Amino acid sequence: MSAENANPSCPSCQGSALKKIGFAVCVSQFETDAVADLAKMNTTLYRCLTCRLVFRLPMPSQEILDRVYASMQADHWQYTEPIWWHWSREAIDHWAPDGKVLDIGCFRGDFLGYLGSRYARFGVEPNEKAAAVARARGIQIVGSTLANADQLPQGSFGAAVLMDVVEHVYDPRRAVALLMTLLRPGGVIILLTGNSDSWPARLSLPFYWYLGLPYHLVYLNRRYVMWLASELGLDLVAWRTLAHEKAPWSRRIRQSMGCGLYASWHHWIERSPMAGIARRIPPYSSVAPHASAPPLFMRLKDHFWAVLRKPLTGAKSRP
Ligand SMILES: [Zn+2]
Repeated sequence: MSAENANPSCPSCQGSALKKIGFAVCVSQFETDAVADLAKMNTTLYRCLTCRLVFRLPMPSQEILDRVYASMQADHWQYTEPIWWHWSREAIDHWAPDGKVLDIGCFRGDFLGYLGSRYARFGVEPNEKAAAVARARGIQIVGSTLANADQLPQGSFGAAVLMDVVEHVYDPRRAVALLMTLLRPGGVIILLTGNSDSWPARLSLPFYWYLGLPYHLVYLNRRYVMWLASELGLDLVAWRTLAHEKAPWSRRIRQSMGCGLYASWHHWIERSPMAGIARRIPPYSSVAPHASAPPLFMRLKDHFWAVLRKPLTGAKSRP
């Protein structure tokens, strides 16, 4: 692991104008021993005042991250046709109807399988067990990391997909710039990730669950995506906010109230002289059990889905 730099800078724009958000507070349960070991690393969260990216420092080494991803079971990340798959298929049908599709972090190839065999489907996946499942589905695995995508023919893909993936990279700008070189003119990059400008994140950071997962290194938002588009000469052609898990309104309202109580406990109550009394009476008596670890508020609208398009002509990229 790299030591924390005394003069930290943004991993994406290298800017040194940063706002310190606080020490990252990890969730209480971890998928594997490798993730639990990673969670022992003390990290600080920052927001870059230039590009608006939220990120942790220090970041774990690639070797440690490789060990974490290799430790996951092949059924760890799986979904049943979430809404963003529909949106992404519509976007690919619209912007790249006859193109090749590259899914970074495709895991078992679930989305590419959903997309259908009329597309030429390629994936990048570090977990060998999951990659084997994807290969058996007819998906061509081109490497284990984004760096392997460097070997692919430039200007040949219609779409590149990063779903629940870009938060795992050190620098989203570098990742998107690389993918942009693989796209043909008019091709699209589709992002699904957490939104650090969502109200639950703004209210709760540094205690929010999204960066409580120790392998989430960066936390994007619309202003960062706009900056990214401007830097790389891409057009932001679609933007939607959403909750990662579908739930009825009643459960969302309950989680919203829980998030507000949790955030207010940590920001104002916990260190106040009233904490001892507040801990014993409602509503904080129900929050206190979570005092040391963020609850997983996954039904709140704290994610975004976005489509960035490479211009047909006159690209002004500086990758
Ligand atoms: Zn920055």
